Amino acid sequence: MADCLFCKMLTGAIKPDVVYENEHVLAFRDINPQAPVHVLIIPKKHIATINDLSDDDTLLAGDLFIATKAVATLTGIADSGYRTVMNCNADAGQSVFHIHLHVLGGRHLAWPPG
Ligand code: AMP
Ligand code: ZN
Repeated sequence: MADCLFCKMLTGAIKPDVVYENEHVLAFRDINPQAPVHVLIIPKKHIATINDLSDDDTLLAGDLFIATKAVATLTGIADSGYRTVMNCNADAGQSVFHIHLHVLGGRHLAWPPG
């Protein structure tokens, strides 16, 4: 998707602060971190929202969580704890329409979220 910010990170047109990468996903630091550790994990396939996932994306969806383990370990928050969030559409405040899993940690995270 030529006009997608996160696709531009996958092509290298924009260079994110990469934390982890494998064949299926790219993980990089959020430009406006909401916690000491705030990483976004994106699939290498453009999918706009959770609503656009198809049955063929089962492994891809799992890849995001398997990559979360690596990101948590690499950033030092695996044992202290962290939260994963994926926003969908307006009420959740989704602003980039290429699905991404937020990984937040490094401080106590309140619940319920705002
Ligand atoms: P969401 O609101 O769930 O769609 O999350 C989009 C996230 O992308 C926000 O937390 C932004 O701070 C983050 N973001 C936007 N532009 C960039 C960028 N150039 N590099 C890294 N993160 C970004
Ligand atoms: Zn995209």
